[in-house]
Amino acid sequence: MALVLTHATVLTVDGADRVLDDRDIQIEGARIAAIGPGGSLAGPGDTRLDCARGVVMPGFVNTHTHAATALFRGLADDKPREFWPEGSYSVPGQERFTAADYRASLAAACAEFLGNGVTTIADRVAKMDLLAPVIAASGMRAVVGSTIADVAGPADWGSTERTLERYGVDPAASRVFAGIAPHALDTCSDALLAECARRAVQTGAKVFLHVAQSEAEVASIRRRGHAGALACLRCAGLTGPDVVAAHCIYLDESEIDGFCADGTAICHCPASNLKIEARTLPLARYLGRTPVGLGTDWTASNNSMDMFWEMRLAALVGKMKADDPEVLDTRQMLRLATIDGARVLGIDHLVGSVETGKRADLVVLDRDALEMMPLHDAISNVVYSASPRSVRDVLVDGEVRVRAHRLVQDPRNWVEAGSA
Ligand SMILES: [Zn+2]
Repeated sequence: MALVLTHATVLTVDGADRVLDDRDIQIEGARIAAIGPGGSLAGPGDTRLDCARGVVMPGFVNTHTHAATALFRGLADDKPREFWPEGSYSVPGQERFTAADYRASLAAACAEFLGNGVTTIADRVAKMDLLAPVIAASGMRAVVGSTIADVAGPADWGSTERTLERYGVDPAASRVFAGIAPHALDTCSDALLAECARRAVQTGAKVFLHVAQSEAEVASIRRRGHAGALACLRCAGLTGPDVVAAHCIYLDESEIDGFCADGTAICHCPASNLKIEARTLPLARYLGRTPVGLGTDWTASNNSMDMFWEMRLAALVGKMKADDPEVLDTRQMLRLATIDGARVLGIDHLVGSVETGKRADLVVLDRDALEMMPLHDAISNVVYSASPRSVRDVLVDGEVRVRAHRLVQDPRNWVEAGSA
């Protein structure tokens, strides 16, 4: 018995960026078993999901967020850069948040992500071992890291070790898997950063960290004797595609080339950067030279958890940064939000495109939504006019998580699962 999405327009985001009209997508278990002509794949006993009025695309991959802080939305708008003290990104009153509050906040974020068509997140906060069960219960795909720092005291590896132990590092074996998550270059000593690199090699985990997010951070690492963020990363052995660096907005020309030469992966978070630093990176300089994905970052600095908006902003600001309206075309931008993000997280062999053999992490957009009409160019509509309200259905690992614009499960159950 299969689930078959019938008569869909399919944005494959495959190597040729093919758009297929009137196709059936047959899903067996978690995987796409076949893609064929409309009406050809559903047999007796199969469950059909009519997509004749739908556009099917891969689920969005959000490469950088802090989902457990969802309820901080609206608490930090229009602040000076100094509002965020060196190495500390928190909102007033955050210290009163309890573990139960964080779990409820995280469930709310997962509900919002799924409704927005986001099927994978790279998520990081402190004490992730206590929070990741909520993400797992939501059915989302995620790589999770427990934030480590040693600026205010010795690094506590306990949560990281428990998260690694529980979820492992193999995305093919577990929908939620673990990474190593040093906080940033100014909140981690050189010794701790090097220890993260050593443990990453030992465990096979990727390393996720914030890099060059503020001038204060760069000044801090210069005081330690590094020329800049790139030199600091190289000194610690944190380079290459298994290192995933968020932001990277205070890099000079030679550092941009150095990042690309090293092949270090970048999470581009334009909304967050523009909101709290009034600048962002020159996206067109990086594409095709090093892996880049998109991230929403957190609700205090974005405040939207909307990858449609992030993709559009990245394209428009990227064109402005390049002073060239021809760069960052719609195909590239859809790839950035899907398959390229999957590559950043090391899961592009599993998700990020609609292809036979891949996991069925899929979004069905409503082509009857006003913002999706006319459908002259479906990719153009997704990049420049669609929004979360266009999202009709969402599947992760072949499981329907959103149907007809509504969550299938009650997020309160995820909170309970997470506190068990
Ligand atoms: Zn962040």
